[in-house]
Amino acid sequence: MSGIVTQEGVAAWLRAFAEAVAKNREYLTELDAAIGDADHGSNMDRGMQAVVGRIDGPSAGTAGGGVGALLKLVGMTLVSTVGGAAGPLYGTFFLQVGKAAGEATELTLAQWAAALEAGVKGVQMRGKAVLEDKTMVDTLMPAAQALSAAAASGAGLAEALRQAAAAAEQGMKATIPLIARKGRASYLGERSAGHQDPGATSSWLLLQTAAETLAAGAPAEVPGA
Ligand SMILES: [Mg+2]
Repeated sequence: MSGIVTQEGVAAWLRAFAEAVAKNREYLTELDAAIGDADHGSNMDRGMQAVVGRIDGPSAGTAGGGVGALLKLVGMTLVSTVGGAAGPLYGTFFLQVGKAAGEATELTLAQWAAALEAGVKGVQMRGKAVLEDKTMVDTLMPAAQALSAAAASGAGLAEALRQAAAAAEQGMKATIPLIARKGRASYLGERSAGHQDPGATSSWLLLQTAAETLAAGAPAEVPGA
């Protein structure tokens, strides 16, 4: 049986993502310095610290409403605290995942994969970005597709999350040779090639931490079953 994504698991994921962003703050800023305005690390760190403050803050206990409400809180917090393009884009991602997740406190892998796909669709509509524009879509889209494919093939939660993280990493690395067609990096034209996209990199951290945390609260999977 494949595992389920729980509200506790989602909260653990958000804390782990915040920690990963804090740890990679300078790295993300260096990547953004090469092709953007050198604020992606500090922006995302400020936003995710605010997120952790809210989900673990005094008003958090009153938030019923399930996974959807939790993720909508994350989305609204990022929109209001993160500057540049990253705030609205990550905000939209979490808002749309939250909307798709609804009021459930637990989601099956298939439901979670569908919610993630909705989040990616939201990012694409908000940023008008397609694959190979050298944006976070290059990481998020193959990851969501890998998760859905794994779910459809009957993979367990942990394995599906690993496959999604692997697809995310591959997508992130694939941004290096690309010429940016969206965002500030696109002003550089051909000079944007040869640099890994900072948004694609923070999105990889998102999928990487999901693989580390989301299956932790789920029922154990039997190896080889
Ligand atoms: Mg920037």
